[in-house]
Amino acid sequence: MSEENVHDVLILGSGPAGLTAAIYTARASLEPLVLEGEPSSTGDQPGGQLMITTDVENFPGFPEGIMGPELMMAFRDQASRFGTDLRQEKASKVDLSERPFKVWVGDPEAAEPTYKANTVIIATGATALMLDLPNEQRLVGHGVSTCATCDGFFFRDHDIAIVGGGDSAMEEAIFLTKFAKTVTVVHRRDELRASKIMQERAMANPKIKFKWNSQVVDVIGEQVVEKIIVEDTVTGEQSDLAITGLFIAIGHRPNTGLFEGQLEMKENGYLITDGDSGRTNVEGVFACGDVQDDTYRQAISAAGSGCAAALDAERWLEANVHG
Ligand code: NAP
Repeated sequence: MSEENVHDVLILGSGPAGLTAAIYTARASLEPLVLEGEPSSTGDQPGGQLMITTDVENFPGFPEGIMGPELMMAFRDQASRFGTDLRQEKASKVDLSERPFKVWVGDPEAAEPTYKANTVIIATGATALMLDLPNEQRLVGHGVSTCATCDGFFFRDHDIAIVGGGDSAMEEAIFLTKFAKTVTVVHRRDELRASKIMQERAMANPKIKFKWNSQVVDVIGEQVVEKIIVEDTVTGEQSDLAITGLFIAIGHRPNTGLFEGQLEMKENGYLITDGDSGRTNVEGVFACGDVQDDTYRQAISAAGSGCAAALDAERWLEANVHG
């Protein structure tokens, strides 16, 4: 840490991007502080979205695959080994208008910030989108879920549905067949967005059925989910589907609310970085991983961008603070 309790590097987020940035800056003796986030049932939690994933088969170096949480524990152990200070805390406010940058944890109205830092690396990731159905929020945790890994176990021998046509929906549908009697994929078009290999696996699974050109208009149940109302997107006709679990896998939104009005963002809310670098429009503030990537969104690309942001931060500190 530099003078007056100012950290050299403060990293927000502890998914593959944040922890890779931590490994690199820790090995550069910059003693990074990582605010890991707090436990939640969506992607914005310590360890990020891989904590609510099952098998990761495409992370290089693991020919047999590895479980998401296990991979993240390995990232974390590696960051700790080089002296990273990891804290299960979540920023409630940031002030990036002048240096040192200020970060609050807890009461955002507190006069004094919790932390000050010469550089901030933002790796706050993205969070699962919901359908905004009239009864959806009320039934979250009572049959409505965005996390198959967390909740699949509760649906042994049940009929359930999953919404979405991407890789996440296929992966989760396949995973859910370990428990459920049937899994109906409800997709708004008549073709999937998922990669060929995932499509083939889902279609070959006898427990998975597809409801094409269909959107869920509401989820019904007093205490727990009893059925969904599905509308045919071509004819407009509505029908009931009796299920006890509704899993939602329709993509994510970036966790950038804290930075509104302070950092440049795309129209869809993703942070803008300069070319291949992690530089944002504020000097000394860097971003990496899903919070700035609406194209690739892979664990390996997030880790790569975490490395880039760390090297950018290191060079910036050398030129502007320690040089
Ligand atoms: P995605 O690729 O953006 O797919 C989202 C799906 O949800 C699309 O099929 C979309 O329909 C549908 N959708 C979006 N909004 C909807 C709404 N309001 N109502 C109904 N349906 C809606 O998201 P993802 O599946 O989460 O994947 C994100 C990225 O992670 C992708 O790059 C993916 O390849 C990657 N990923 C990879 C793996 C793997 O390799 N094992 C696993 C998971 C994710 P349309 O198709 O009509 O747009």
